[in-house]
Amino acid sequence: MLRRAALLAAPLLALSVSCGRDRAPDFWVNGAGVIVATDAPFAHAPGFPARLEDVASVALRYWGGDWSALAGRTITFSSGTTVACDGADRAEGCYDGDVRVSDTDPGVGEVSCVEQTVLVHEIGHAVLGDPLHQDPRWMELEPVAEALAGRVGYARDGEVDCVVAVSVWQHPLGTR
Ligand SMILES: [Zn+2]
Repeated sequence: MLRRAALLAAPLLALSVSCGRDRAPDFWVNGAGVIVATDAPFAHAPGFPARLEDVASVALRYWGGDWSALAGRTITFSSGTTVACDGADRAEGCYDGDVRVSDTDPGVGEVSCVEQTVLVHEIGHAVLGDPLHQDPRWMELEPVAEALAGRVGYARDGEVDCVVAVSVWQHPLGTR
């Protein structure tokens, strides 16, 4: 709660930071700049860059793309249930040239692993475009979930199971 209160008290100027381009990436993965704007434990766990690379690679393969789809883009992990998104309100994730995903699922709270974010979904937009979700693959994500199942997650007080929810990847709240 203290953390949230501190965020609310931040000056309005901070709003402009949420678009992600104002900050230098914390690290790079195959040409994509990764911005860690969350204090969620999963994003600070040992090996996070490699794990993100693995999840993104699985997603890129599923959508029929490769790392060129993300080259020169940023991937931002941000605090809260929604992210800033050009033209969309209350988006849990966004692809508007850059990828942004929230660290909080409205149903389960703060996520415990990158697999639990809507990253797989947003990478789909980076590869396909398809803002109206007309490609049948949006509804056939179970094989990706199986490929990413059984991993460790990170809560505030230690390790937990990383539970991936396909429905979150299919229909993230307000996502475009
Ligand atoms: Zn979408």
